[in-house]
Amino acid sequence: MNNPNLSIPVRAPAQTGPDDTILPFEVNALDLRGRIVRLGPAVDAILSGHDYPLPVAKLLGEAIVLTVMLGSALKFEGRFILQTQSDGPVRMLVVDFTSPGTVRACARFDAERIAAAIAADAAAPGHLLGQGHLAMTIDQGPDMSRYQGLVPLEGKDLEHAAHEYFLRSEQIPTRVRLAVAEEFRGGENGARRHWRAGGILLQFLPKAAERARQADLDPGDAPPGTELDVVAEDDAWVEGRSLVATVDDIELIDPATSSERLAYRLFHERGVRVFRTAPVHAQCSCSRQSVETMLQSFPQEDRDDMVENGKITVTCEFCSSTYVFGPEEIAATDSASA
Ligand SMILES: [Zn+2]
Repeated sequence: MNNPNLSIPVRAPAQTGPDDTILPFEVNALDLRGRIVRLGPAVDAILSGHDYPLPVAKLLGEAIVLTVMLGSALKFEGRFILQTQSDGPVRMLVVDFTSPGTVRACARFDAERIAAAIAADAAAPGHLLGQGHLAMTIDQGPDMSRYQGLVPLEGKDLEHAAHEYFLRSEQIPTRVRLAVAEEFRGGENGARRHWRAGGILLQFLPKAAERARQADLDPGDAPPGTELDVVAEDDAWVEGRSLVATVDDIELIDPATSSERLAYRLFHERGVRVFRTAPVHAQCSCSRQSVETMLQSFPQEDRDDMVENGKITVTCEFCSSTYVFGPEEIAATDSASA
């Protein structure tokens, strides 16, 4: 039989894998494609830089993994922005992924409500987010129209929101697993905690579209006793999503389990092909120039209100960089351009 894959080298999975990478893979026998993201220093730089309460940092870490998994699938130059807006103690999460692999993130939250949620042991991601929506925006620059996808947040976590999005908007059977944890490591200056995060995304992309039919994730508002439409899911997809359901958090974050070993553990019986990993790093896109341009776009009155001790101070919400301007610097440029 003519097997087009014969020339592809077959090797054992690497025992260790580098942090801050995205590993794309495919399982041709089951029409599955996916990515495994593993973050060390990149997620640690972002989360350590913010000093958020623990459950907020963990939730933002999950949003970072999800954003990296989705943003790295873009086949063009641009930005992928994931943003939540909801009525829970965490009012907003924003994660920005810029191709080919830089990420930044921040959260807005109500400190008192977070403290109350922690005290009441109600700081699960779904509780922190509450009701609202998750928006995913693709921005290819000023000359291109923006694409935005929206999915409701209904007191459930980001994995659930991602599944809903792919079910309703893209109609691609998708499973996502996200994990975030702190690792305690001793050092010369005593133990410091380091954030680690990881995730796996699996999608079923059969050539025949009718094989991608999916059952509803939950019956919604159907009255009790209603006969639900029973959708027979494709066997290949059932096998794929069942395998992903066996992934433990530790497999996604443990430095001793490489992404390749995880892919192999899940799919070796069917044959899994991995592609070259892509690097990810934490980097903000703010600059003195971009802050100055923003300030110039404000009415003079608003700028006057921002003056404290004779200076305008702007702190970037993503990276905490501080930019200080004399009021005359902005005003002078403003009148010159007018
Ligand atoms: Zn910044």
